This record gives sequence, structure tokens and C-alpha cells, in this order.
Amino acid sequence: MVYTSLTSLDNQDFRYDIKIAHLYGDLMNTYGDNGNVLMLKYVAEKLGARVQVDIVSLEDGFDKDSYDIVFFGGGQDYEQTIVARDLPAKKDALENFINENGVVLAICGGFQLLGKYYIEASGRRIEGLGIMGHYTLNQTNNRYIGDIKIHNDEFNETYYGFENHQGRTFLSDDEKPLGKVVYGNGNNQEDGCEGVHYKNVFGSYFHGPILSRNANLAYRLVTTALKNKYGSDIKLAAYEDILAQEIPEEYGDIKSKAEFE
Ligand code: GLN
Repeated sequence: MVYTSLTSLDNQDFRYDIKIAHLYGDLMNTYGDNGNVLMLKYVAEKLGARVQVDIVSLEDGFDKDSYDIVFFGGGQDYEQTIVARDLPAKKDALENFINENGVVLAICGGFQLLGKYYIEASGRRIEGLGIMGHYTLNQTNNRYIGDIKIHNDEFNETYYGFENHQGRTFLSDDEKPLGKVVYGNGNNQEDGCEGVHYKNVFGSYFHGPILSRNANLAYRLVTTALKNKYGSDIKLAAYEDILAQEIPEEYGDIKSKAEFE
């Protein structure tokens, strides 16, 4: 049964409403991915939107017209197998949501399962939704773990994160990466791509969670969802006014450990 896991407090005058479907939120949550939902809520409230988060899980219908943002977190192979069996029933609605430019954030296992297939560490193949063209191969006795920095040329934005995955994902020709790897492994350690950007779907292997470390990306997701719903000419607070922080001079340019080495 779909249930509401989080709502805004009624302590401010909201102008907008944002509803988030947290897909399999009770199963897919590795390394604090659920924090992305908290960050979406934080940013949406700063932009004047009341937020409701619903958990849409096994055997639940996904009503695409009820939601503005879908969040699909990462999972271990065991949970991914269970989720994969339930996905076909939600495929049409999710595909329509994506084709109608709905905003999706998919992390790791969620990112993998939007694609064609995923090969588990054991070598077993799990079918994905096949809504997007990427596919994921396995690797023997290895995981990509560590700090990562990527740059998105289209947005001219840099994203920092921590990756942890065994899967090696390869994008299709109609998919762009979320960013080009500056350092780290990225999708597969071969082609310099990390994550995916397709229509308004943003996928990544960043855990930690990605949005709390990259408020610029959180702002992009929420403003895109608000403009989809209320029109592209709505006036929204600028990123600089609500989210950019001045870093005290003594900290200089904050770098991750890998950048110092
Ligand atoms: N089980 C997948 C992998 O190892 C996804 C893991 C995750 O979501 N962190 O690639």
C-alpha cells in the first residue's frame, strides 16, 4: 500500500506543492540514499513548495499523474532481485512519466534498473525496466569505491561524491553522462562517463547522498519539477540567494582527499 513517509510542516506559507514518489524506499537505500529525499524537501521548501513524500513499493500501483519527482535509490544485489520482479507492473507508468519529462533521480541500483539489464556479482542476469538504453556488466572480485569528481559541460557544473559499486554501466547513444570523470572510476573506468542524463532523468553512482553534497543538482531537479508543473515563467528564488554558502577564507577551496594527493 502506498503510504506517506514525510510531509512539510504547516509553519510557512507555501505557494506550490511538490509530490515525490520514493520508489521502493523501504528496500532500496544503500549508504544513506534516502537523504536525497530530505535534500529535495529542504530545497523545495526554500523555493516555497509544500512537499509530500510517498513510498511506492512492491505491488503498489505507480500513479504517474500524482507525482512531480521520482526518487529511486540504490540497493544490494539481493534487494535488486526482489525489486526487478515487481518492476514490469510499473513499467508503462514510469515510461510515460519519463517521456512526459517527469523528473527522476536514480542512484546506483535504481540507475541500473532503469536500463536494459544488470549482471550481478554472481554473474546472474537481472532484467531492468528497459526504459533507457544503458546496460550493466559485472566485474570479478572488485568494486569501485572512493571519492569521485565529475563535470557536466552542458550545465557547467561540478559534482563531488563517493562511489561504491561493482556494476560497470555503459550508456547508449541517446544517453549523455551526468558528468565527465575528473577523478574516480565513473560508470565503468573506461569511457570517462559517470551517471546518466536523459530527458529529465538524472542517474548516478554517487552515494553519501549525492544531493546533500551537490546543492546545485538538487536545485536543478526541484526547479525543473516546479516549472513542469506551474509553467516555465514562474519566478523562483535564485540558487545564490537560498543555497550558496560563503566558504570562510581559512578553508580556501574545499577539496576532497583525492585532490590533495
Ligand atoms: N548492487 C549494485 C552494484 O554493486 C548496486 C549497489 C548500490 O546500489 N550501491 O553495482
